[in-house]
Amino acid sequence: MTTSTNPYRGLLPDLPAYACTNCGHWQRWPAPGPLTCPVCADVRNALPADGFCFATVDEVDRTVTCQSGPSLLPGVEEHGCGPRFGLDSRGWVLETDAGRLGFECAPWYSDDAISSLRERGGLQVLAASHVHGYGALWRLQEQLEPAVVAVGVRDLEWTKAFRVTWPADDRLELAAGVVLHRTGGHFDGHSVLHDSRHGYLFCGDSLKADLDDEGRPLALSAHKAFHAQIPLSHGELRAYREVVAQLDFGAVLTPFEAVPGVTTDHVVHLVDRLLSGPPDAGPVPMDEL
Ligand SMILES: [Zn+2]
Ligand SMILES: [Zn+2]
Repeated sequence: MTTSTNPYRGLLPDLPAYACTNCGHWQRWPAPGPLTCPVCADVRNALPADGFCFATVDEVDRTVTCQSGPSLLPGVEEHGCGPRFGLDSRGWVLETDAGRLGFECAPWYSDDAISSLRERGGLQVLAASHVHGYGALWRLQEQLEPAVVAVGVRDLEWTKAFRVTWPADDRLELAAGVVLHRTGGHFDGHSVLHDSRHGYLFCGDSLKADLDDEGRPLALSAHKAFHAQIPLSHGELRAYREVVAQLDFGAVLTPFEAVPGVTTDHVVHLVDRLLSGPPDAGPVPMDEL
């Protein structure tokens, strides 16, 4: 994959960044910060019951500790924060022939977390499924300067805190055997990342897995809006099926957890079942899929 240098780099104003304390969404905004959060205001999220509140970079840095290490799935590094902040998203990192590839991001990356990423080779490619997985993507772009930042072009309106260098259409090969596919549905530009080398699907919010105490999947669901329990339309499900049925996988990684044992067949059976009746956002037990 070839990349070009950006002649406009440095010309954008370096406004301070603020995180919504309800969902963790970052906005760059003139001081003293934004009044509302577009992610919380959207139908897919819950509004903060006591009003909007925004944290500065220093406040978030003091509040959370960054953690990283191997994930449940071989070959995938996991980055997160504790205590839980915002949606509590995870950042996944893979080695590829195009360099180290980050998909989705943790809510925050401290200076130590950035140094540790840099020591392991930085990131050459950064991508995300949709806004609920962006976390502090802006911070990784600012600090590690990956050559490629890819997000589905139809979701560009959600990306103002960072700069998309490679707006993705329906299919974009980010590295050999690692391909971004637009599914739409949950968001119009919602995209999944398929790693055919390992048989993993980084499925964004196209799937929700209910897990037991050991992290094994008990049930799967698909939804337009999880909080409000709004199902996907049948047209959205058909478009989703067309993409996912072609991809061979034996594990999925949402923006929140790695789930071994969820296969292409499970997901296709889930979609077929949802298409066989009225739209439904409820969980379907794994043993029925
Ligand atoms: Zn929010
Ligand atoms: Zn989502």
